[in-house]
Formats: sequence, C-alpha cells, structure tokens
Amino acid sequence: MELFYDVIVIGGGHAGCEAACSSAQLGAKTCLITIDMNKIAQMSCNPAIGGIAKGQIVREIDALGGRMGIVTDRTAIQFRMLNRSKGPAMWSPRAQCDRPRFITEWRHQLDTTPNLEIWQDQVTEVITEASDNPERKSRVIGVKTLWGVEIYAKSIVLTAGTFLNGLLHIGRKMIPGGRIAEPASHHLTESICSLGICSARMKTGTPVRIDARSVDFSLMERQDGENVSHMFSYIHESLADSQYLSDSSLATRECYAAPRVPRDSNFLPCWTTSTNKRCHEVLLSGLKDSPLYNGQIQSIGPRYCPSVETKLVTFSDKESHPLFLEPEGTDTNEMYLNGFSSSMPMEVQIAALKEIPAFRNIRVYRPGYAIEYDFFDPTQLTHTLESKICEGLFFAGQVNGTTGYEEAAGQGLVAGVNAALSAGNGGSNEEKKAFILKRDEAYIGVLIDDLVMKGVDEPYRMFTSRAEYRILLRQDDADRRLTPLAHSIGLATTERMNVWKKKENAINELTEKLQRSVLKAKEINPYLERIGSTPVNGSVHLADILTRPQVTLEGLAEISPEIKYESEISEATEILIKYNGYIRREREYAEKMHRLEEIKIRGHFDYNSIQSLSTEARQKLTARQPQTLAQASRIPGISPADINALLVLLGR
Ligand SMILES: Cc1cc2nc3c(=O)[nH]c(=O)nc-3n(C[C@H](O)[C@H](O)[C@H](O)COP(=O)(O)OP(=O)(O)OC[C@H]3O[C@@H](n4cnc5c(N)ncnc54)[C@H](O)[C@@H]3O)c2cc1C
Repeated sequence: MELFYDVIVIGGGHAGCEAACSSAQLGAKTCLITIDMNKIAQMSCNPAIGGIAKGQIVREIDALGGRMGIVTDRTAIQFRMLNRSKGPAMWSPRAQCDRPRFITEWRHQLDTTPNLEIWQDQVTEVITEASDNPERKSRVIGVKTLWGVEIYAKSIVLTAGTFLNGLLHIGRKMIPGGRIAEPASHHLTESICSLGICSARMKTGTPVRIDARSVDFSLMERQDGENVSHMFSYIHESLADSQYLSDSSLATRECYAAPRVPRDSNFLPCWTTSTNKRCHEVLLSGLKDSPLYNGQIQSIGPRYCPSVETKLVTFSDKESHPLFLEPEGTDTNEMYLNGFSSSMPMEVQIAALKEIPAFRNIRVYRPGYAIEYDFFDPTQLTHTLESKICEGLFFAGQVNGTTGYEEAAGQGLVAGVNAALSAGNGGSNEEKKAFILKRDEAYIGVLIDDLVMKGVDEPYRMFTSRAEYRILLRQDDADRRLTPLAHSIGLATTERMNVWKKKENAINELTEKLQRSVLKAKEINPYLERIGSTPVNGSVHLADILTRPQVTLEGLAEISPEIKYESEISEATEILIKYNGYIRREREYAEKMHRLEEIKIRGHFDYNSIQSLSTEARQKLTARQPQTLAQASRIPGISPADINALLVLLGR
C-alpha cells in the first residue's frame, strides 16, 4: 500500500471489483480498500448471476471489458437461457455459481490486474478540500481508515453496499452488521452527509441456508440446467486458443480465458417444492414477532423479492408459494432456499420449514435475516456517477439505492472508468472525459439514467420493461454495441476487439451467403412440410425464407451445409435477419430521440421564472438541472406540454 493513488475504490463487492478493474485498465494507479479480502465479491444473497434483464447487463459488462462474465463462466455449476419462449430481445442467460470459487476467481482477477493494489481496512471518513469548480462545493482528496491510515487520491469511488450503518434483524433480535457475520461500517455516512449529500434507509433480506444431507430429495422435483454452448463472456475459448493474444503470458491467458472443461461435467441440479397451508399457519402465528410487521423495520424493501411473510400477508388467498433449493457449490453441503427470504424469529422459520415434507428433518446452517442500511439519493449524481456536490467523489452499487449484483457491477464499471478519466487517465481528448452509455446502447445506460433522472423510492432492480429499446439491447449483440466504444478509450483490450471483429466478419459472411443462396422448391419443401410451414412454388433465397417464424438457420443448414457456422454466429445472424424490421424501426425512433438529446438546456433557463411550465416542472427542473431536453423529458412529472414550452423558448 502507498499513500497516493489516482483512484481509491471503497468496498470489494460487485460494484467495487468492477470499478477497481476498469479504473486500473485505463492506467489509473488504483487502490481497492475493503473490509475483508477473503469476502471479495461475496454473493450476499443467492449464488446465481444473470436472469431476466440482469443477464443482458452481465453480457454488456463483458463486452466493455469487465470481469463478471468471465468469473461467472469459470465458476458456473448450472446454466439456463431464460425466456426462450419469447423473442430474442427477452432471452436472458442465468447461471448458478459455486459461491466459494466465485470469490477465489475474483481475487485472481484482481491479483492479476496491473495498476491495482488491495488494502484491507475500513474507510471511516472522506477527506475533502474546497473546490475551485464553481458548480461544486468541495473536492475529495483522500480517505481515513479505522486503523488511522490516511490515503490520498484524485478520485474516490464509494461502493460500500449494504454495510453503511447496517442493522441485521432476526425476529426481535437486532445486531449491527454489514452482512451476517460481518461488521457494519460506521461514521462514513455521516462524513459524506456532512458535505451536503443526503442519505436515507432501505431494507433487504435473505433466506435460510440448508444442509443438503437433511433434505429428502425424493419429495422434490429436479430442475436441470441446459447443456448449451452459451457463455456469459464473448471471449471464452476463442481467445484462449487464438493468435489474438499479444501477451501470451500465463497470467494474461488465465485472466481472460474461460475454463475448457465441458460445462456439463460441473453441472448440478436445482430442486423445487412449495410451501403449504401448515407451513403458512406456523409463519402467521409468529407474525407478531416479525420485524416487518411489529414496527421494528420502517425502511422499504425490494418489491420484487418479498419475504415469505410479506407474500403470505399480500397474497392471503394463495395456499402455496414455490420454493427453489439451489446448490451453493460442488464442495459443500450448503444449499440456498430461494423464495423463503425471512426475518421471522429463527425458531419460527425452522418450525415452518419442517411442515414441508422434503424438509421434515431439516438442519439449517443459518436462518434468514433482514438488513437495513444507508443509501444516497442518486439524483445527487451526474450520469458519470460523480457527485454533483463533491468533485471527484463517485458512487456505485447498492449505495445508490439499487439491488442486485449485476446492477451493482454495471454501475461499478462506469464509475471506475469515470473516476480514472477524472483523475487524468485514459481517453486522449475532451469528449472522452465522460463515459456515459445511452439508453439505446445498454441496459447499464437505462439503469444509470433512471437512477440519476428519476431517483428511487424502493430498491431498484432492472427489468426488460424499463428499457424502451429492448430489441436493440439483446444479450447476443452487446459486443457489437459496446466493444468498439470501450476499445476506443482503452477499456476493452485489443484482443477483445479482435475477437469481436472476427465475429462481425463471420456474421457478414453468413448474411451474404444467405442473401445469395437459393434453394429449389423440391430441396426445401420437405423441410417446410416437416415444420408445418407452407411449401413454396419456385426457388427461394435463404434469407427470405428465414424470415418465416418456424424456419431456423439450424434447420436450413441441414439442407445447405455451407451455412453451418458456430452457434454464436448463427444465432446472431438469424436474429438480425428475422427481426430486421423491428430493429430498424426501433433504431429510427432512437435516432429521433437523439435529436432531443442534442438540445442542451443546462444553464439556459431560470425555470422558476417560466410561467408556461407547471409548478411541478419548475420545481423538478430546478432541482435536477438536466443537461439536455431528452433528460428533462424523462424526469417523472415533466409532461409533453412542459417540453413543448421549453422548445418554444429555445425557438424550435
Ligand atoms: C441480506 C441480503 C439480502 C439480499 N437480497 C438480495 C436479493 O434478494 N436480490 C438481490 O438482487 N439482491 C439482494 N441483495 C443485494 C446484493 O447483495 C447487492 O445488491 C449487491 O451485493 C450489491 O453489490 P455492491 O458491490 O454494491 O455491495 P456489496 O456486495 O454489499 O459489497 C460491499 C463491499 O464494501 C465493503 N465495505 C463496506 N463498507 C466499507 C468501508 N467503509 N471500507 C471498506 N470497505 C467497505 C464490504 O466489505 C463489501 O466488500 C441482498 C443483500 C443482502 C446483504
């Protein structure tokens, strides 16, 4: 550890790890300070990465040069592509991961990243001085730690997760903590609030961990993963083998290459069962001691991950709720009971579980619990995730009011890049001073725009429905959207860029073949009849017939073997051809919105003096100070009439 860095990252969770790697990748001398180095990227809740919309975020992180996808591929013990019954815009990869190996793999990523050092300690204070920037009151210059160390840096990224003044609840028992068996982080919130930054409280919870040896699996339904070639990282085996590695050292190979072991050799099943009437009765009998219902917890939890007691109260007519028992790893008996998040007294949790036949003889490692923690209102941030109040202070992850590993990691990567840019690293000209992803470029762009423009009144998690350009934000093409951009600022390596170029060439080659190749009716009709599609009369171009819903590239390749490509290439090409019309329409709409994005309004108006605006618009525009008209249009409470009024004043 040294005393001066370009960037300090506080917290080694999912946001902090990506922030530290992206900052270091841009050449910034970076120090990651975290409470416990053995809990790097700990999955506080379920041992799974990805899922609906979250899987797309992981692919985006990977396309940008982040590490979450690589770590997931290397530690996956089950993989599924969710939402396959819907269009490809909705397909979302999800993997169960080996929890202990996930931590070890992340440590390995950090340890093999140049420019990055780790210091195990707890930050208690940020050190600031007056800012000479007229827009900000103060400027951050360093941190103080619990051990009395002062470390200085040009930028600081705060990613302290659920640890700030964390308070754990199990029944009526309350213990300060950042996560179970980990200390809470005190004084740091107060230090940040003293700068004029506002904080508030949120809540989340997690279920019991169960000893697999005490479960009767014969009374549960087995749920296997898919034995598919999909990976989270775009640079899996292709790079490990490839001539693209300019640095062929073992460290580089190990850092980037996903395992060569076939996926199925590691795959473990999940198991499903459900709660029942007796189990509900036991839980309801303990409701008076539930911190969620006896007034002990006042803060708001994630609406879409409710505790089991909340489900019973909200859906009182339901006689059962599904439960998923998920493995925590290949070398442990520990299992995670998804769907049974609870902060009821531990004896109530265990007694209720014993009413479920498969859990009659259950032994648990630890009960479920809830945690309350501090977060900071994200509308106090710019789109770079820098504080509007304190220069050089960036925020990412749960501290911005989000929930979820993927949401945290996506923000961490963006904050890390911007912290490095702000400290004078990476990027060679003015426009590279801010790294901002647009809403039509990435779910991460949607996430950050929602946070800073709309704020949060409950833990924010990503859904596909939050994105207006879903068909442009698919999991198959995050590399096309983001790798060239990331490469231009030195975030994605040339190796990664070359992998993308190779893929792009293959997609173009296959598209041309499909547009050129023709099949006669007698060649294609047997296939069309087999899949229930109307036979053709004359000859057809493969690209045209592929637009039919039932026709697949895989099917056509059985008739024309020259169009048989690696599945990743076929899938991407098929989507581009089949959904060409939708993609074009959404792109045109996005271009129109870009025009509003180009109309800069910050500093143009004294909103309070504009009578044609509604009172709500005047207040909100004054408070948020949007940079562009498009940003203004996304602030809740700003109506199309308000936007028109501003357009008129701008003479448009
Ligand atoms: C009990 C519980 C239940 C959860 N349930 C869900 C759920 O159901 N669904 C869901 O999507 N998400 C859930 N989460 C949230 C999920 O774990 C987080 O969204 C995610 O981990 C956030 O990542 P992060 O990097 O922001 O913070 P974290 O993963 O919390 O990491 C924070 C890191 O900062 C370090 N740190 C904290 N303070 C300091 C300091 N002062 N100095 C140095 N280091 C510090 C910590 O040691 C830790 O390494 C749950 C979390 C908890 C604790």
